[in-house]
Amino acid sequence: MSLIKNSKQTIEWIRGHQDEKMPKARLSLLAQLNFEADELANTAQEARKLEPLQHRMVRSPNNLIQVHVNNVTVTSKVKRTLRRLAKTPKLVTYIQQKAKWEEGVFETIDWGSHKSSVQNSILPDKFVTKFVHDLLPTGKRVHYYKIYYEHRCPSCFADQEDRRHLLLCGDPKRRKWKGKLLKDIRETCDRTDVSQEMLELLYNGI
Ligand SMILES: [Zn+2]
Repeated sequence: MSLIKNSKQTIEWIRGHQDEKMPKARLSLLAQLNFEADELANTAQEARKLEPLQHRMVRSPNNLIQVHVNNVTVTSKVKRTLRRLAKTPKLVTYIQQKAKWEEGVFETIDWGSHKSSVQNSILPDKFVTKFVHDLLPTGKRVHYYKIYYEHRCPSCFADQEDRRHLLLCGDPKRRKWKGKLLKDIRETCDRTDVSQEMLELLYNGI
């Protein structure tokens, strides 16, 4: 690194991913070096996922700005990372208090899987968010805001229709909908290699 620090450097832009159109061996030297640098960067990025950076990196002279948080260098997605670091602690406290979780519960949740399942859903974002946070306009909720709305389940007329009832309502009219939901769950679980225990939990729970 000290070698880089003391040597004079220039910057030149090279079009990326040229190997997609032409074999690497036929590319110019700069394009080949660019390809190799790209590969090294990918390897480093993968390694970082397994072993996150724990220290401050030496700044290359071409790097005009380098951001450090608690003496650790932020090496990518600076804006997003800073926003996350600034907001996460308050958000975690808020979630813990709202859900009335005891200490340590938050850490037991696989938030990575939670994020993927929310992001990969084919359902509209608004629906998923409302479903996860129990904000769907079920009878109980709409009646809470406007008393003249019916709080009972429109299918079986059970009192105070909520999210739980939406999934567990035993009315035959909802059987068709429920059958499709269970079929979709099974297909998704098969496709994504979900464990048998989780599949049974989902199946029996609904
Ligand atoms: Zn019902």
